[in-house]
Amino acid sequence: MSNRDFSESLIGYEKEDDQLWLWDDIPELKMEIGYKIKKLLHLEKSAFQEISIVETASYGRMLVLDGTPQITEKDGFIYNEMISHIALTTHPKPLTAGMIGGGDCGPAREALKYGSVETIDVVEIDPLVVSACRTWMTPYESNDRIRLFYEDGARWIKKQQRQYDVLLVDRSDPYGPATALYTAGFYRDVHQALKDDGIAVFQSGSPFYSDSFKKTVNQLRKLFPIVHTYTTTIPSFPGGIWTFTIASKRWSPLQADLNRLQWENAKYMNPDIFRASFQLPNYIRDMLK
Ligand code: SAM
Repeated sequence: MSNRDFSESLIGYEKEDDQLWLWDDIPELKMEIGYKIKKLLHLEKSAFQEISIVETASYGRMLVLDGTPQITEKDGFIYNEMISHIALTTHPKPLTAGMIGGGDCGPAREALKYGSVETIDVVEIDPLVVSACRTWMTPYESNDRIRLFYEDGARWIKKQQRQYDVLLVDRSDPYGPATALYTAGFYRDVHQALKDDGIAVFQSGSPFYSDSFKKTVNQLRKLFPIVHTYTTTIPSFPGGIWTFTIASKRWSPLQADLNRLQWENAKYMNPDIFRASFQLPNYIRDMLK
């Protein structure tokens, strides 16, 4: 459904003097961030969430779920490259990869750059997000190595036993359908789903205001011998700085062979970024003590 009447109640959207804004409410920061909207391209309510795709004035097209921005045309490459390349390089020969949370499937496209990867299983709870992204974000190109499953990632992972070399947990923030992807049981199931030398990486939120970051690291430390957090800057995300946490059964990202890094066509990732992203400021180190 496109070009819908803005007077209908849309989560986070407000019209001021004929100008549409998306207000992303961040209660932990007691702040709202406003994105000026040029056009509402797509709006629908699925069984799981309200899905919209808008043309913003600053970041180009943006996927918005329940009023929270997920990925933008202008800076989405940073998120997609940072969540995928570090784990796929750290594992010396990843054959089987999985990804929970599909959306625009950007991280799965990055994973295809690793020739050893035979299959990437993408598990997305909401088929309507994928179809909206295919229409409005990235045109769909089929690829035999990507297999899509429409299922709750928290249920799907329970059925996987020692199957994956690398798992990318591209989850939304811990609200709505993604809440189940933040539980102790889910982290245990991810551990079970990995092979004996498998690696998982989690979108672990803002270190500045979200307590899901500390909780994620603490839960993973109980299960995995190697746990490292790395950061990046994503301009469209509240506060800019964002964390990912990698949990590994055998291979350390600090000793990865960076000759394996597939960065020739990357817009963000390179060997220096790979190494530097693990250097944490003191306030984050203190949170992890
Ligand atoms: N980086 C992504 C992209 O390229 O579009 C954004 C993905 S967004 C951060 C997270 C995705 O996870 C959404 O598409 C949402 O529908 C999905 N999701 C939320 N809860 C889920 C669950 N329990 N199982 C599987 N997918 C889930």
